[in-house]
Amino acid sequence: MNVIYTVNAMQAQAREWARQGKTIALVPTMGGLHAGHGALIRRAGETADVVVVSVFVNPTQFGPGEDYERYPRDLESDCTQCAQAGADLVFAPTATDMYPAQPGVFVSEEETANTFEGASRPGHFKGVLTVVAKLFWAVQPQVAVFGRKDAQQLWLIQRMVRELNIPVQIVDVPTVREADGLALSSRNAYLSPAQRAQATCLYRALQAARQQFDAGERDAQALHATMQETIRTAPDADIDYLAIVDAERFTPVTTLSQPALALLAVRIGTTRLIDNMELAGTAKTT
Ligand code: AMP
Repeated sequence: MNVIYTVNAMQAQAREWARQGKTIALVPTMGGLHAGHGALIRRAGETADVVVVSVFVNPTQFGPGEDYERYPRDLESDCTQCAQAGADLVFAPTATDMYPAQPGVFVSEEETANTFEGASRPGHFKGVLTVVAKLFWAVQPQVAVFGRKDAQQLWLIQRMVRELNIPVQIVDVPTVREADGLALSSRNAYLSPAQRAQATCLYRALQAARQQFDAGERDAQALHATMQETIRTAPDADIDYLAIVDAERFTPVTTLSQPALALLAVRIGTTRLIDNMELAGTAKTT
């Protein structure tokens, strides 16, 4: 697999592709690649001539005490998976190449970025939006592909692109799950076998809410209570937040009259997992 390690070399490659008239799709990742990332890479291949996968564990999106140091890093295995999914290039910059010693310029969103994931992880989305903007400048893609698994991140990136007139089309991909429903995540590797068994409570809770919704329930509090009860069946599960939000505005709803998303973040032991599911007119899992 062809790997580029610096922003300068990446920009030179992007210019060369542009000269050849080739379109570029970018799949931003933090490595620890799994079949979920594979689905994004394959989707990217349908949208452009060349596919770049960035592998960068972004320090500015981790808070103090989070898992930046121990986040899974294995570039060789990531490259193998990228090749299998049809990527053309891996962009794996170092933190010192991506950021100056004292970064002073950031991209931030001032409303939703401080709710849900942002409330639990202060500064997280400022780090995410800044690195995504920087990756866009480095790779200069026409298309960028993101997973619905990180629903709030996807919503914020769509807002950033819209409000800053960034000429990148955002393509989203449904969540890839294990056979028992657990959303694939690099952080699943932290779970012990007993915790792994309990981790299905996130999907079970979302499914239960979805079934209730499909049966006609439109009261967010009732759906909330159902999710809470399901999570409580797992002894090591600790709810960080549960919410039903309007899919367009990403704000909490009390009565579901528009497409909505059920969101949750749950700690299983020390591992924090997130998941979400669409609650819309037609039965469709995300
Ligand atoms: P990460 O490497 O965890 O930062 O994720 C990189 C991209 O992969 C993001 O757009 C995620 O939303 C997406 N992603 C992560 N897990 C999944 C999954 N299970 N299914 C689909 N996309 C995913």
